[in-house]
Amino acid sequence: MALVAILSGAGISTDSGIPDYRGPQGLWRKDPEAEKLVTYDFYMADPEIRRRSWQMRRTSATWGAEPNAAHRAVAELERSGTPVRVLTQNVDGLHQLAGLPSRKVLELHGTARETACTRCHARAPMAEALVRVEAGETDPPCTVCGGILKSATVMFGERLDPMVLSEAMAIAKACEVFVAVGTTLQVQPAASLAGIATEHGARLIVVNAEPTPYDELAEEIVREPIGTALPVLLKRFAASPDTDTPTPG
Ligand code: ZN
Repeated sequence: MALVAILSGAGISTDSGIPDYRGPQGLWRKDPEAEKLVTYDFYMADPEIRRRSWQMRRTSATWGAEPNAAHRAVAELERSGTPVRVLTQNVDGLHQLAGLPSRKVLELHGTARETACTRCHARAPMAEALVRVEAGETDPPCTVCGGILKSATVMFGERLDPMVLSEAMAIAKACEVFVAVGTTLQVQPAASLAGIATEHGARLIVVNAEPTPYDELAEEIVREPIGTALPVLLKRFAASPDTDTPTPG
């Protein structure tokens, strides 16, 4: 059965109350002081930047956010039996909270729900570090080695995980349908993944309010709000016997 790859960007989570931080028009790019808090060199060099970073994490909209209809539609498609892989630019973990198994999700920019040590690379739940911040630690160090701790997200100035990137490229090459949802396709690697998919014969569907550089290559462009458009669109690819016959691949 046809593999459906879904590339999701900030636009899929705005209905969940999470603003676009990272994109070209995102909050961080528009505010140089805020951008320092998520830029690796500034973060490593300055304890005051780290203190402010921890305060920002403590109050992040992510912790109160619930998956929305679009996240649920992706999880339902997977449950229908259709092979689905999600490549996401988001770090909010909402695809998994909606019920999509973690092994089906590639987090291109990491996850805000874990911490990573910059020295020994130990990972731990973000909640554990935030408890320490609440208790008064302004810059909680790694409990394993004492190194500087950060969110397990890819900061500006950091490389993407090469393993994650190569797996994402393999999925883009292998899929028969590539749905780009809520992403401007202007930031790497998202843009190149859409290109790789079409070069290898995938049908590209773009679900985004604004035009993207890949619209010309798209078989279909959907401008309607993601929360209503995506559930309708994905039903077409559902494998359940009580739905329409899937399009032959
Ligand atoms: Zn460590």
